[in-house]
Amino acid sequence: MNELLKNLTEAVGVSGAEKEVRLLIRDLIADYVDEWRVDSMGNLIALKKGAGASDIRVMVDAHMDEVGLIVSGYDGNGTLKFSGIGGFDDRSLLGKVVQVGPKKLTGVIGARPIHLSTASQRNTVTKMKDMRIDIGVKDKDAASGKVKIGERAAFVTEYEELGVTAVAKAFDNRAGCAALVELLRARPYPFDLYAAFTVQEEVGLRGAGAAAYSIKPDAALILECTPAYDLPNKEDASPNVALGAGPSLYVMDSGAFQSPQLVSHIMKTADAHNIPYQIRKPGGGGTNTAVIQRVRGAIPAATIAVPGRYAHTPAMMINLNDYANVVKLAEATLRNLTKEVIRRDT
Ligand SMILES: [Zn+2]
Repeated sequence: MNELLKNLTEAVGVSGAEKEVRLLIRDLIADYVDEWRVDSMGNLIALKKGAGASDIRVMVDAHMDEVGLIVSGYDGNGTLKFSGIGGFDDRSLLGKVVQVGPKKLTGVIGARPIHLSTASQRNTVTKMKDMRIDIGVKDKDAASGKVKIGERAAFVTEYEELGVTAVAKAFDNRAGCAALVELLRARPYPFDLYAAFTVQEEVGLRGAGAAAYSIKPDAALILECTPAYDLPNKEDASPNVALGAGPSLYVMDSGAFQSPQLVSHIMKTADAHNIPYQIRKPGGGGTNTAVIQRVRGAIPAATIAVPGRYAHTPAMMINLNDYANVVKLAEATLRNLTKEVIRRDT
């Protein structure tokens, strides 16, 4: 059992309320870094001093937050109104168990039982604004006594390994966080490594830009969990990245072109170390690369991601070999990262 993945995915950190994850990571890395600090947005930034050969500064980012819900009001019957934090398909919510607020009260996203639904009700998607979280109390006063408006609700899924695959909530992006913890626990790099466990990625890449500005890196690596879509219907024979096919490299997404010099360095490194990789098809989605590459005098940045099925639902699935290869590839990429590799003069 991978305890790191288990502990990190079972911790709760919906965007803007990442404290539990931050404290857990702080304890996981404290003995392996020279210093750490938390900025006012909640980014956890740690420095692992280099062995001295190179004077570049390298940032490795992994966002800590996960998608979830925020309580927005009460109904007279004691149920909670809520909105989504991060991107959701409303169809993935009905009937799911959630943990609400810092006390982690159990709630259920209520659904009309199929027995009591008409055919037309079964054929329409219930909108999130019409859903409620039921915490089992009888009226509004009882509900407001237990849960404050603005508290978050997160999915509840226990980490489980099914052979080479693993199921959990929030692999996006605790898989990236776990990989970054492993990188910090390795021997020192030739340069100062700044690990940034960043906040609020799922609501618009908000934390990473501030972190990059203060770190002032010469290059940045972003560790992520990217949506795999490899079980297509017959009509849709255009799968994106697949589980088990290795780390996913980004070239282009809706927010950024990855640094070509860094991407080519990562690919060469993978070939040299016999690490499989796959190129994510250009398209939607995005990573913190989009904001990190634009701060200060432009920072070369690229993403390495663990492919994960069923992103932004209560249960994601990854392949543990892909995860291990992301750690391997990221570490090898860093070990031979030099000024020459990141310089761009043509
Ligand atoms: Zn993510």
